[in-house]
Amino acid sequence: MGENNTIFWDFDGTLAYREGGWSGALLEALEKEGIEHSFRRDDFKPYLSRGFPWHNPEKSHLHLSTAEKWWAAIKEIFIEAYTGLGISQDKAEKLAGLARISYVEPQSFRLYDDTIKTLRRLEKQNWKHVILSNHVPELHQIIRGLGLESYLTGCISSAEAGFEKPHPEIFRIALLKANHPSQAWMVGDNIKADIKGANQSGIPAILVHKKSREEVKYQADSLSAAARIIEENSEIEF
Ligand SMILES: [Mg+2]
Repeated sequence: MGENNTIFWDFDGTLAYREGGWSGALLEALEKEGIEHSFRRDDFKPYLSRGFPWHNPEKSHLHLSTAEKWWAAIKEIFIEAYTGLGISQDKAEKLAGLARISYVEPQSFRLYDDTIKTLRRLEKQNWKHVILSNHVPELHQIIRGLGLESYLTGCISSAEAGFEKPHPEIFRIALLKANHPSQAWMVGDNIKADIKGANQSGIPAILVHKKSREEVKYQADSLSAAARIIEENSEIEF
């Protein structure tokens, strides 16, 4: 195996998932504020289906270069959602701040049962692990809180990179950070961002935790099954 052989892992929906997702964070803020309501996650969803940087991956967002700038853009979406559901502007602004805090709490995220086991298994075969995710600026803290950090040699969040998968630039950055590995894989749950994005940059990719109606060369129900695909399809060099 080459020195730098690297597996790029998507985070959300691949190594971990957030209970309730974004709409869950907006509901949690209402609860933290003690506001009585009868909203459900689905009420927020129409407001959350656009406006995030990953909804326009063809565009760079290098101008959102700090966490504060990044969140200022996202908070506008939150405020629109709350006011759209009839909450006053004042309250909506306060809630948007709370929803931000809520979203990034590491304890809101859960690892899949086989996440650690799979990272260890592949680490023993000298694979390096790098997270490559369309995510928030605080992804590093979330990963540390989940105890994943010691398994990784890198973590790239699109919020910091200024580009979203499947933009070729974020894959270029990832390959550069991994010191141009002679072998690389991408594992993710999003066909467009993870699979097509990686393939476009010459990286084979495995779709996990999701079935695709489109033709996908490598698919796996679990991370353990993805590890098996990597083992069976990588060249072993001695
Ligand atoms: Mg994902």
